[in-house]
Amino acid sequence: MNKKEIQTELFCGACLKDSLHTIVYLNGNIYKLTCEECGHTITKPDVVKDIYGEYLERILSKPHRLKDEIEKHPSKTISSLPSRIISKPFRFYKELEGLRSYVYKKKKTDEKDVK
Ligand SMILES: [Zn+2]
Repeated sequence: MNKKEIQTELFCGACLKDSLHTIVYLNGNIYKLTCEECGHTITKPDVVKDIYGEYLERILSKPHRLKDEIEKHPSKTISSLPSRIISKPFRFYKELEGLRSYVYKKKKTDEKDVK
């Protein structure tokens, strides 16, 4: 999972003024927007569904991408193929587990903050 945080000034609909906001991106998708002035937070509820959709698309397009790679760099691709085939399920599981643990850990933290 690729997580990136940036800070920028945006208009806050809760405190009704321009203020510093923290934007959290997960795999390039906006996941959460927080106003640093008043703490108002907007979380995109279906970001996990979007990211899972991207993973599914990557899986489905892999044969085509592999064919292109073999055509462009045949010897390099074929020599690295056995180790990539063996490690791919573990790398993929690690990515999904990283996403799942981040999102559910954040949900628990957010629920504690609300109570
Ligand atoms: Zn605000």
